[in-house]
Amino acid sequence: MKKRVLFILTCIFIVLLSACGNINTEKKDVSSNNKLKIYTTAFAFQSFTEQIGGKYVDVNSIYPPGADMHSFEPTQKEMINIAKSDLFIYSNEEMDPVAKKVATSINNDRLKLPVAQDLNHGDLIASHEHEHEHDHEHEHETHTEHDGHDSHEGHNHEGQDPHVWLDPVLNKKFVKAIKDDLVEKDPKHQSYYMQNYKRLIKDINQIDNKMKKITQHPKRDTVIISHDSIGYLANRYHFKQQGVSGMNNEEPSQRELMNIVRNMNKTKQPYVLYEQNITSKVTDVIQKESNTTPLKFHNMATLSKEEVSDDEITYQSLMKENMKSLDKALNE
Ligand SMILES: [Zn+2]
Ligand SMILES: [Zn+2]
Repeated sequence: MKKRVLFILTCIFIVLLSACGNINTEKKDVSSNNKLKIYTTAFAFQSFTEQIGGKYVDVNSIYPPGADMHSFEPTQKEMINIAKSDLFIYSNEEMDPVAKKVATSINNDRLKLPVAQDLNHGDLIASHEHEHEHDHEHEHETHTEHDGHDSHEGHNHEGQDPHVWLDPVLNKKFVKAIKDDLVEKDPKHQSYYMQNYKRLIKDINQIDNKMKKITQHPKRDTVIISHDSIGYLANRYHFKQQGVSGMNNEEPSQRELMNIVRNMNKTKQPYVLYEQNITSKVTDVIQKESNTTPLKFHNMATLSKEEVSDDEITYQSLMKENMKSLDKALNE
C-alpha cells in the first residue's frame, strides 16, 4: 500500500517536473558534448541505440547488471531519472509491465518509444502458449472460464512474451524505429545516424541468413533452454523451445520438472542451453538428473557485472555465440 502511494506521488512529481519549465520539450542542440540521454529496457535495445547513435548518445539499460528482468522493480529515484532523460525505449506496455509503469510516469509521448507497438498479431506470442504441463487439475482450455482469473501458480495468462529482441526479423523494425526517432530528435546528424543504421541492418541480415542456414534441415526440432526466452526465435525459424522455467521465469513444479527430465532422457537430448542470468535449483536438477551437455545462451535482457564493463559486447557479438550453441543443439 505504502509503495502504491509512493508510486502515485512520484507520478505527480514527474508530471509537475515536465509541466513547469519546458524540460525536454524543445529540441536539444545535440553534440558529442551534449549527448541525447537515453534509457532502454533490454540490453539488446541499448546495443542497437548505442550503435546507431554513436558519439551523440549516452545509453543505459534500466536494469542493474545481472538482474532478472521478470522480477525487476525500478526505485522512485530511478523512475525520476528515466523521466528526466531524452528518451525511454522499450518493447510495449502489454509485453513489459515494468516498462508500462515507467512509461505511464512519462507524460510527453515524444520521450518514449515503444518499438514493438505496431507488430502484426502473427508476430506476437501470447504468454500462455508455453508448453509446460501444469500440475493443476483442469485443462488449459478451461482457464478462460474462470471469471476474473488471469493468473495462477505464479504465471500470467495475459500479456505477451517479452523477449521480442531475440528475433532478427523483428529487430530490423525496431532499429528502424530507433533510427527514425534519433533523426527526429537530432536532424542535424541525420546522415551519421543513417550510416550507422545501414551498417547495423547489414549485420542483422547476416544473422538472419545464418539462422536460416542453421535451421534449414535440423537434426532435431526442439531446443531445451533454462527459461522460455526463445519463443520468437523458434517461431521465426520453425523449431520448438522447451523451457525449464516459463516465459516469465516462473519455476516448474516438482512434477513438471521430473516430466521435463524424463522427456529429455527419453528423446536423448544431448544439450541444454543455459542463460547468463537464469540460475536456479531447477537448472541444477536438470544438470544432475539428465545426461546432457550445457551450452551457453545469452538472452540479452541484461548483461552480467563483468560484461557491463566490456565495450566489445554488442547484440551481434552475443548473437554470434548464441548461434554456435543453437547450431549444436539443433544439429549435432
Ligand atoms: Zn496455466
Ligand atoms: Zn525472460
